[in-house]
Amino acid sequence: MPAITLLDDELLAAVRAAAADAADDGIEFRITSGWRSAEYQQRLLDDAVLEYGSLEEARRFVSTPEGSNHVTGRAIDIGPTDADSWLSQHGADYGLCQTYSNEMWHFELSTEPGGECPAMLPDAS
Ligand SMILES: [Zn+2]
Repeated sequence: MPAITLLDDELLAAVRAAAADAADDGIEFRITSGWRSAEYQQRLLDDAVLEYGSLEEARRFVSTPEGSNHVTGRAIDIGPTDADSWLSQHGADYGLCQTYSNEMWHFELSTEPGGECPAMLPDAS
């Protein structure tokens, strides 16, 4: 069970509202990652360095504890793929935007509900 209790209230409320509407379309949201401690984020980064061979390459996929909005409670990872597709279509209605073009599951509250999402960053680095 990912930690959602320390998520930003507004983010969690937006995700809950979106999940309720998606359920009407037969789409079920699963929160795959919510709040992370700085220690846990560092461990993910360390693991990624081992996997990708360098810090530079790892940072394309995993942020530093200082840079990750999971650590501040302002980012959420959602699955499965059909939920991500639904959110990429409808997320802006709730203020939810995909942040990185290489992470279709990672969403942040980055516009007003009904607003326009900012351009995606290519990756987390
Ligand atoms: Zn994420």
